[in-house]
Amino acid sequence: MLYPQEFDVIVVGGGHAGTEAALAAARMGSKTLLLSHNIETLGQMSCNPSIGGIGKGHLVKEVDALGGAMALATDEGGIQFRILNSSKGPAVRATRAQADRILYKAAIRRMLENQPNLWLFQQAVDDLMVEGDRVVGAVTQVGIRFRSRTVVLTAGTFLDGKIHVGLQNYSAGRAGDPPAVSLSARLKELKLPQGRLKTGTPPRLDGRTIDFSQCTEQPGDGMPGGMNEQGGVPVFSFMGKANMHPQQMPCWITHTNERTHEIIRSGFDRSPMFTGKIEGVGPRYCPSVEDKINRFADKDSHQIFLEPEGLTTNEYYPNGISTSLPFDIQYDLVRSMKGLENCHILRPGYAIEYDYFDPRSLKSSFETKQIHGLFFAGQINGTTGYEEAAAQGLFAGINAALQCRGETAWTPSRDQAYLGVLVDDLITKGVTEPYRMFTSRAEFRLQLREDNADMRLTEIGRQMGLVDDARWDAFCRKRDAVSRETERLKATWVNPRNLPAEESTRVLGKAIDHEYNLFDLLRRPGVGYADLTSMNGGCYTSPDVSRETLGDLTDAVIEQVEIAAKYSGYIDRQKEEVERAAYYENLKLPADLDYMQVTALSIEARQKLAKHRPETLGQASRISGITPASVSLLLIHLKKGG
Ligand code: FAD
Repeated sequence: MLYPQEFDVIVVGGGHAGTEAALAAARMGSKTLLLSHNIETLGQMSCNPSIGGIGKGHLVKEVDALGGAMALATDEGGIQFRILNSSKGPAVRATRAQADRILYKAAIRRMLENQPNLWLFQQAVDDLMVEGDRVVGAVTQVGIRFRSRTVVLTAGTFLDGKIHVGLQNYSAGRAGDPPAVSLSARLKELKLPQGRLKTGTPPRLDGRTIDFSQCTEQPGDGMPGGMNEQGGVPVFSFMGKANMHPQQMPCWITHTNERTHEIIRSGFDRSPMFTGKIEGVGPRYCPSVEDKINRFADKDSHQIFLEPEGLTTNEYYPNGISTSLPFDIQYDLVRSMKGLENCHILRPGYAIEYDYFDPRSLKSSFETKQIHGLFFAGQINGTTGYEEAAAQGLFAGINAALQCRGETAWTPSRDQAYLGVLVDDLITKGVTEPYRMFTSRAEFRLQLREDNADMRLTEIGRQMGLVDDARWDAFCRKRDAVSRETERLKATWVNPRNLPAEESTRVLGKAIDHEYNLFDLLRRPGVGYADLTSMNGGCYTSPDVSRETLGDLTDAVIEQVEIAAKYSGYIDRQKEEVERAAYYENLKLPADLDYMQVTALSIEARQKLAKHRPETLGQASRISGITPASVSLLLIHLKKGG
């Protein structure tokens, strides 16, 4: 049956990529259909119920700054929040939250169900409708044909998914969900370049059988005994409020020991990883426990975090023992740890192998180079993680909607957003293992901070139609307050006459010898914004600037002012670097350039460029095997008008 309505954007898959893609496209005015296996699993967390962390938190804040759902859903469902690296520089500080998986999913579903221009439909997609080199829709399991101008595919770990527990295996998308076998076959038939990857998850534990008195408690920030107890629980979204959070819960810590390691080693001969049953490559930075014991044989203990899965369940997620060893080994290894001696396993751990598609076959909009109108986002592009998926989904949703509006695609640059780094890394370098975000991947990380994601992106999001009035008003108020207060500090002078020596010594450590403005004083190590306001109030007012007191300014505004003062030297230097590099970075390469005729280049360089067809010189420079010398030769060729 041909469905009577036609859509602008069809999103296949209701995971983290799919839900953000659908919401973004619909917010931008595209008539959007989200097709997924099961409406009950929209926004489901396949693995750990936690959002954020270093690099990942940065992506979540960027998704939020562009009007996305993930941070707000985490604020509604988060049962523990922490600011990681809080004692380090602002560039590497990151928010991490433990979520109640049911509350998180409910928040996402509510947002989807209430989004104008968005329709939901429960069915597996088995086929894509392709006419010539253009996708024109999707066909479901029972033969319903939905026509659309674009399709965003976000099938996660489901494409030809195969679950392994020991030497047993079976087809599935993840535990409890069907695999997408027909769709995988169709994509292979379309000759899109693909490969296999794998990821894994630990067994889940029944909290009633954990002896928490034998474990170490780890409270969240703002909880009794946690960091920043007086400061309150952090929020994730720029629109978040601490009163959105449900009840907060602690996590717990136990450890593996020599006995645990012996048990794990005794299962190596039945491990699907070590016996070659699993062909896909797994994430190096998130290894299974058997991989850790094998690779770091000299370590006699590993920390295991016992993380609550929610407020209305006894289920615990033991972070650190992801495994695909046989169940009898899983049972013994869990029970060998302190506090878990009598533990009941609710669900076995497993590994899953699935198809992914080489992201080097995508344009910088995430549209496939081969099939017009077909976009890929999320785990299907070789990444791992909810946050990476959400960021890609939002991005692909935006570009599908822009295509429907007849507008040019949007790709943030590497100095503008972690999203820009993610997209550029994927399309130029591809993946050899599941890709996850780290702050070290961003060369301009000093300016790509969590705290300024809104300053970097909200205005762009507003122009594209992603940011609603409430967020825009809040953003404008913050941006204006930051700029007003920065100007006030720069225009407010203190000198030895109006700031007595004892007062400046108390606040600044020594008496000032000549006139300074407050912004310059704030740049000094050890001087904070609160120190400025604690100085003898009446003595330093600038007559021509309106006075604001600390009470008028939010913590977020003060944070921006303080960071601007403390890091302005470094940030300015980084901006100069960015400007110097920008010309070459953005220099467009002609779409019809015949690289095989650029004889100054080595055959290998010509072949690589011809294969990947980078859009800019910057992208060309990041293709593996393209040396700086090849880039210079290419530039000379372009300057000659080649
Ligand atoms: P998914 O969340 O997988 O969502 C895919 C969606 O598409 C689902 O809703 C599915 O029903 C739907 N779908 C698929 N095919 C079809 C079809 N043909 N028709 C209709 N609907 C379809 N990440 C980490 O960061 N750390 C980890 O340790 C980690 N471990 C993991 C362990 C396991 C076992 C699994 C399964 C995943 C793990 N992940 C981990 C990865 C994380 O779950 C994913 O990165 C993230 O969920 C990817 O989001 P996504 O939207 O791309 O896909």
